[in-house]
Amino acid sequence: MTTYSHSRLSTYENCPLKFKYTYIDKLDRDRRDSVEAFMGGLVHETMEKLYHDLSYTKLNALEELLAFYRQRWAQEWTDEIIIVRKEYTAAHYQGVGERCIGDYYRHYHPFDQTRTLGIEREVKVSLPRDHRLRGYMDRLAQQPDGVYEIHDYKTSGHLPGQPDVDQDRQLALYQIGVQQEFRDATQVRLIWHYMAFDKTLVSERNQQQLEELQLSTVELIRQIESAKGFPPHKSALCDWCEFQDICPLWKHPTKVKPLAPKEFKKDSGVKLVNQLAKLKAERQKIKDSVDGQLEAIDARVDEVESDLVELAKREGLEVIQVSQHQAKVKLGTKWKIPGKNDPQREDLVRILHQAGLWDDVSTVDSYALDARLKSGGVDAVTLKQIEHIAPIEETTRVTLSKAELKER
Ligand code: SF4
Repeated sequence: MTTYSHSRLSTYENCPLKFKYTYIDKLDRDRRDSVEAFMGGLVHETMEKLYHDLSYTKLNALEELLAFYRQRWAQEWTDEIIIVRKEYTAAHYQGVGERCIGDYYRHYHPFDQTRTLGIEREVKVSLPRDHRLRGYMDRLAQQPDGVYEIHDYKTSGHLPGQPDVDQDRQLALYQIGVQQEFRDATQVRLIWHYMAFDKTLVSERNQQQLEELQLSTVELIRQIESAKGFPPHKSALCDWCEFQDICPLWKHPTKVKPLAPKEFKKDSGVKLVNQLAKLKAERQKIKDSVDGQLEAIDARVDEVESDLVELAKREGLEVIQVSQHQAKVKLGTKWKIPGKNDPQREDLVRILHQAGLWDDVSTVDSYALDARLKSGGVDAVTLKQIEHIAPIEETTRVTLSKAELKER
């Protein structure tokens, strides 16, 4: 049975396709570190040194730790490390790491608040249905009063809020593992050090929350193991993904990005997309112009029709003829039925049902209603109720056809 890790679960949640490339296809990518991961790794190494030396009663001065960090930076840095944010240099990132270490040092010196039980310590978590999960805690510690602490060091440039850490899954899963391993770990605090902000966030979980977490984690594992498709999911994380050159969302942009303008234009995909964009733009231009002309004509038609109705009313006409055409003006009335989303429509249906008219009308339609009401037999009270909801409004219809009467 697969042993899961928190990052394995998160990879699936963030992008199922990346999960497939990494854990199912096990593609061996020449993974280049991002500068953020590189800097974070060295800050973690420095924290490890701090607490490891402390376990041998050696308290490093801040300058010693910074010297260690700088030396490791110089040893490990290569130009292969990716800097996605081009406005910052490697030196900027190195400076962020130094500030993280300095702030943490001044905040917690002399580091005697707790006893360290483990640094980069493995934790194994047994989950229901025989599932297992494994992880590494940056530091496991115990307070003098016996409370356990799981510490996590973060160098991220994003500071989460309390609700975010209260929902965090990783350390809560580690708490389950710690409580399975140590009988006296009845109380556990989860602690995140957001070192770039000199902020410490703390969360605690009760047994019910931990049981719910176990169930939701097992459900996520079930989804992963029964997944039929692994679609790509585009997000800000794509900038740091090592599979861009094979991912269907990024393969083409990645291929054509380095091409010179002449080569770029020759690419078959580029040519087709350009053609399509041009055709769509032309179509839209024609549509806009036709729509604009039609709107203007429709407005004029409304005006002329309304003038014809006025003329017909004033002079008592039904047919108005010119040499080739005639206009017929039909004046009438219709029931103004409330629209489908109007609550009064239901009232109308109810009244028709109560009055035994529904079968004749069958649907709330003005003409059917009109025909049924005109056929008589409807009492005055019902008629009034219907008129209240669906008042009679005047209708006019103007139709233009070939002239039927011979011109004199
Ligand atoms: S580039 Fe983005 S969408 Fe494609 S596999 Fe990587 S994370 Fe997923």
